[in-house]
Amino acid sequence: MSHPDLFGDLPAGGPADAQRAADLRSLLHRYGHAYYTLDTPEVPDAEYDRLFRELQALELAHPELLSPDSPTQRVGGAVLAAFEQVKHRVSMLSIRTETDTEPSGAEAFDARMRKELGLGESDAPVTYVGELKFDGLAMSLRYERGVLVQAATRGDGETGEEVTANIRTIGQIPLRLPPHAPDVLEVRGEVYMRRDAFEALNERQRQRIAAGIKGEKTFVNPRNAAAGAVRQLDSGIAAERPLSFFAYGLGDITPATEGGPHWASHFDMLMQLKAWGLPVAEQTACVQGALGLVAFHQRIAAERDALPYDIDGVVYKVNDLALQARLGFVTREPRWAVAHKYPAQEEMTTVQAIDVQVGRTGKLTPVAKLAPVFVGGVTVTNATLHNELEARRKDVRVGDTVIVRRAGDVIPEVVSVVLDRRPQGAPPFTMMDHCPVCGSLAEREEGEADHRCTGGLFCSAQRKQAIWHFAHRRAMDVDGLGDKLVDQLVDAGHVTTLADLYHLKPETLSNMARMAEKSAVNLLEALEKSKSTTLARFLFSLGIRHVGEATAKELARHFGQLDAVMAASEDALLQVADVGPVVAHSIHTFFAQPHHSEVVQALRDAGVTWPEGDALAPTEMPLAGTTVVLTGTLHSMGRDEAKEKLEALGAKVAGSVSKKTDYVVAGAEAGSKLEKAQALGVPVLDDTGLAMLLAGEKP
Ligand code: NAD
Repeated sequence: MSHPDLFGDLPAGGPADAQRAADLRSLLHRYGHAYYTLDTPEVPDAEYDRLFRELQALELAHPELLSPDSPTQRVGGAVLAAFEQVKHRVSMLSIRTETDTEPSGAEAFDARMRKELGLGESDAPVTYVGELKFDGLAMSLRYERGVLVQAATRGDGETGEEVTANIRTIGQIPLRLPPHAPDVLEVRGEVYMRRDAFEALNERQRQRIAAGIKGEKTFVNPRNAAAGAVRQLDSGIAAERPLSFFAYGLGDITPATEGGPHWASHFDMLMQLKAWGLPVAEQTACVQGALGLVAFHQRIAAERDALPYDIDGVVYKVNDLALQARLGFVTREPRWAVAHKYPAQEEMTTVQAIDVQVGRTGKLTPVAKLAPVFVGGVTVTNATLHNELEARRKDVRVGDTVIVRRAGDVIPEVVSVVLDRRPQGAPPFTMMDHCPVCGSLAEREEGEADHRCTGGLFCSAQRKQAIWHFAHRRAMDVDGLGDKLVDQLVDAGHVTTLADLYHLKPETLSNMARMAEKSAVNLLEALEKSKSTTLARFLFSLGIRHVGEATAKELARHFGQLDAVMAASEDALLQVADVGPVVAHSIHTFFAQPHHSEVVQALRDAGVTWPEGDALAPTEMPLAGTTVVLTGTLHSMGRDEAKEKLEALGAKVAGSVSKKTDYVVAGAEAGSKLEKAQALGVPVLDDTGLAMLLAGEKP
């Protein structure tokens, strides 16, 4: 379904306007329901605001189109039936939004206030309070005789939802006020989620989804996550989702004593709340006139990215409570306050393509190419989709309209797809099974999220990383070949494959930046020296995934010769100590790629050599023919580690005890296996016995 008529240009006046107004109302109702009631916005705020403003303008131009159920006349959304209802004694209103994000927006508000208050040019500037506009959800906290008795959401402004149990989990909210607090005090403020808490929550949610836990979802932004946590029926779950709170106003109040706490200004009231232990943002400030507002707007704009939570603007409020009373209210908002927005951190755009990029380490990353969109203060044209799982989870497809978010310094992200606007027949994204750069096989290992190109030595995207690893001190140990030089040599086209290193000319090297003739000579010597190596170092230097130094040594020890390693089947590789199925597969895939054999051959041709030995006969291993069973908890090492060590020495580690078992190694809380060993008379070893066995001594 799409809304072609909603986005076209229609002539003003007449039935077309009436139709447009009706369409806008129904669309805003739908988006409002998704946002306020279901906590799952369908479109970004900026889009909602554009439609809202369009409807406001239509209603202003044609008052006959105004209907009492218009979203412009009401606050917020419906109350969920699952919650108890709370009738607000003092309505919870919205705030008028100044969408002109420039300083002129602040000037317009001051001009309006001065006009409403009948102030002339010679009158003093109005004092305002500048506050942050927190991007969370409004909350009313009711204290009776100093005790928090009720917390309620705004709901439709008149009736909210009772969420006391969940709000009690917010550590920052005092459950009790000091003794001199009023008899009844309703604190109004914003519950929000810090960005770090939001990222951590989404990470946990992703893990839950990956673990197949039903009904779990990630949240599109901190506001949405906070709303989801507050309107959570299980307060145990709410407690796992850390929320924060800032107070910014008052609802109902009954002083404890005649003449009890008393304030004449909004700012003094906030300071009193602070003194009672309620969090008030430290940026809250009294400012004078339009100049003060503009300066506040600019100061907070500069701080915005560094704040640990999202704000979508600042709020200006007339400070003097008597003036506030004079200004009063319009339908859904006080006249004495305005929200002055900043450029949106979420916007809508379309996906023009999904490219797959290959990183230095071979990781394949799908990247959405976007129609340029201004979001979070910059023009965004790319957003990473991280990996295939993430791209599928978000189900982003070419042609989709998506919501893009850029908050703080965080890289731009596609948060969701506007499904309504998906073009017909858009196919789901699938990750390619070949590297887009070199054409080698691209694989995703079990338990991993990322696909990787397996053409490590051949793939130009991985060239620098491969050369750098090859030259590493613990690999071929080419002294003097650092990152910067590798970058230069590759960028200038002097080295495309590893063997090119051994054909470098002195003049090529000395032409590189920061290379003196002496260093060039030294490097050539180091390269020459590196040619005589060991099989273990050579294997390690190839950068085969999962083959670290230790595995390389085991491979060299086990097979003795490179050709034997290269020809080994996965089964044969599994016989090597330290090598499990994932590693065996990785080694086998590596050597199965013809271009890797070519690189190896070119290195041999360039003169790289090592002493080749004989394959290790299994019977030569110290524990060959010995069967060991492990049971209970060992002190000295984990069971897996013990197993690996025993197998590396040729022992067979079995799962059950029989007459053929040579030793049972029993740790703490060993059970039936120990009993069986005793019954069969199999020697039982403790940690010390195991250590002797591993050291080649007879226990
Ligand atoms: P609002 O959120 O723009 O402003 C009023 C709210 O601001 C108050 O209820 C309060 O919770 C909050 N606030 C934060 N800091 C404050 C402070 N210092 N002082 C006073 N209040 C402060 O108004 P609204 O009418 O609730 O909702 C409109 C907003 O919701 C818009 O930003 C709109 O884009 C968004 N919305 C989005 C969708 C969507 O589909 N994406 C749908 C509906 C509404």
